[in-house]
Amino acid sequence: RKITIAIDGYSSTGKSTVAKRLAKALGYVYVDTGAMYRAVTLFALRNGYVGGAEDNFDALVASLSEIDLRFRPNAETGQSDIYLNGENVEREIRTLEVSKYVSQVATLEAVRHKLVEMQQKMGAEKGLVMDGRDIGTVVFPDAELKIFMTASPETRAQRRFDELRQRGEQVTFDEVLKNVRQRDHIDSTRKVSPLQKAEEAIEFDNSNLGLEEQFEAIHNYALD
Ligand code: C5P
Repeated sequence: RKITIAIDGYSSTGKSTVAKRLAKALGYVYVDTGAMYRAVTLFALRNGYVGGAEDNFDALVASLSEIDLRFRPNAETGQSDIYLNGENVEREIRTLEVSKYVSQVATLEAVRHKLVEMQQKMGAEKGLVMDGRDIGTVVFPDAELKIFMTASPETRAQRRFDELRQRGEQVTFDEVLKNVRQRDHIDSTRKVSPLQKAEEAIEFDNSNLGLEEQFEAIHNYALD
C-alpha cells in the first residue's frame, strides 16, 4: 500500500535530504515545493517585480499565468530539476539572492493558490514524499504520515552556509543566519497558510539527532 508522506518544517532543517532518501528507499516520487516558490521568485527578480527600488507584487500576480513550472529528471544526479518556462533553473534558485525574496513572494495568496493546485495534481497518485511548509496542513491534510522538522537557527544557518560556500557563493555566516531568522519569521506569521505543525505530525529536532538516525526513524514509520 502506497501512501503520501508530508514533511514540513523550518528552512534548512534537512527536510529535503531526508525526503529524497526516503523517496529513493520506498520507490516513491519526491517533490520539493520550496523549489517551486523559489522559481516564481526568480521569475519575479528577473522581471524586476522584487529586488528593485520598489516591489511590484500586483504585476507579479498579474503575470502568474506566464509562469510554466515543470520537474524533469536529471540523469546525472538521479533527481528532478525544476524548469521555469523551459529553462533549467535548479542551480539559480538556490542562491542567497533568491532566498532573500522568496518568503515575501510566498505570502501572496495567488502564488500559493497556483502552486498548491499543481502540488495536489502531482500527488493524485500515491507513493509521494513532498516537503515544504504547508504540506501536512493545507496541500495534503489527509497524508498518512506527517513529519515536522526543527533545529536551532544556528544549526540550520551553518548547514545553509556550508552549502552556499560549496557552490562558491561569497556569503558570510551572519548574512545566512539573518536570512534564516527572517524567513522563519515571515513563514510563521503570514496570513495565508502560515508554517505550523499539523496536530498529528511527528516532530523531529535535529539539533541533537543526526540525519541518518532521523531517516531511519521516519523510514520505520513509513513501513508501519
Ligand atoms: O524549502 P525552501 O527553504 O527551499 O523554501 C523556500 C521558501 O519558500 C520558504 O522559506 C517559504 O517562504 C516558501 N515555501 C512555502 N511553502 C512551501 C514551501 C516553501 O511558503 N510549501
